[in-house]
Amino acid sequence: MLEDSQQSRTNLSELGEFGLIDLLTKNLAPKLKSTVKSIGDDAAVLDFNGYETLVTTDLLVEGVHFDLAYMPLKHLGYKAVMVNLSDVYAMNGEATQITIGIACSNRFPVEALEELYAGIELAAKIYNVDVVGGDTTSSTKGLLISVTALGKAKKEDVVYRSGAKPNDLLVVTGDLGASYMGLQILEREKEVFKVNPNSQPDLDQYTYLIERQLKPEARKDIGPLLRSLEVKPTSMIDISDGLSSEIIHICKNSKVGVNLYENKIPLDPAVIAACEEFELDSTTIALSGGEDYELLFTVAQEDFDKIKGNPNFSIIGYMTEEREGMHLITRGDTKIPLIAKGWNAMDREED
Ligand SMILES: [Mg+2]
Repeated sequence: MLEDSQQSRTNLSELGEFGLIDLLTKNLAPKLKSTVKSIGDDAAVLDFNGYETLVTTDLLVEGVHFDLAYMPLKHLGYKAVMVNLSDVYAMNGEATQITIGIACSNRFPVEALEELYAGIELAAKIYNVDVVGGDTTSSTKGLLISVTALGKAKKEDVVYRSGAKPNDLLVVTGDLGASYMGLQILEREKEVFKVNPNSQPDLDQYTYLIERQLKPEARKDIGPLLRSLEVKPTSMIDISDGLSSEIIHICKNSKVGVNLYENKIPLDPAVIAACEEFELDSTTIALSGGEDYELLFTVAQEDFDKIKGNPNFSIIGYMTEEREGMHLITRGDTKIPLIAKGWNAMDREED
């Protein structure tokens, strides 16, 4: 996890806009060849030299997407970058530059923005992207962060949501549901803290879950790994909203159906344990929890040998003709229609 540094309070108005920009961007010198001009002119200049340009943007709003009661600002900065890089990797691209827009009320001192930028800076360093621009402005209430990520890919490498074919294998990276269960733990501790501010929670057994929620890592490694295995996915998407809605996006865009196998969905033991503790169904959490930032993709059957047994990948189903529909095959071998938020629980109760 990331350490928050000791906070003193400098009012934003003391620095002024230019002083603030200088302070926040002092460690953000560009490193990449594609960054021709970074911060310091009216616009950044980028040169992808024959590559396709990928652009994606996300807006995070306090009270909607994050709660500063348990989200340290440094983690928030890091996560805001991850959310966007994940979308570039989901196109099978390489993320190269980001821009940062921030609106915050004057309840945030300069040091708070420095913490936020420390997280952004760390993410940019680890993921090798340049921060090439941004804007900081005031809001009447709360904090908003908008990140735009740019990336590049060779034309023949770009993977869309629309290329899946019947009989393609459905594959997911990593494991699912941990971020959502981390959020449940943090929400529970927040309630405990409200009742007893002196409580010292012991969260050791939940470290993995909380890290997945507060400090997710985008799958920068998967594109190069697939290239080294000589596999090009036929379709791909990242898992931000939950497995079921991402599968439905691929099916609708590709005009195919799917059979997803409940017993193939990868779950970390910590997720299973937390689901038992909270009396939640772990399949529902994997399907609907979201914020996993893993990659979901399809590959042709011929590529099975190249990916089978690889610890990064789980084959969780296969694509069908569109008319066959989208289904979850349960552990009890019952076929249930897949819906955007999990599946139809009423149907399950009948089996
Ligand atoms: Mg996405």
